[in-house]
Amino acid sequence: MENELTFDYGTVFVDHGRGRVEMSCSCRAAACRGLITSEDWQEPAFRRRHRGDLSFAVQERIAAAFPDGEHDPV
Ligand SMILES: [Zn+2]
Repeated sequence: MENELTFDYGTVFVDHGRGRVEMSCSCRAAACRGLITSEDWQEPAFRRRHRGDLSFAVQERIAAAFPDGEHDPV
């Protein structure tokens, strides 16, 4: 079994009030989305996949967008 260390920039990427920002990714991982955006956290699948390793800045965005907490089912 091979362990692969990956870091998804979407977990730390927020727009800081400048609107949507994007950057392309060239990591060539099989699961790579190719494009990292400051709106990645808005995808339910993204939030599920990265639950527990989102940066505080991204967590704040999610908490603000979903004040009832439905984004983080346990
Ligand atoms: Zn990538």
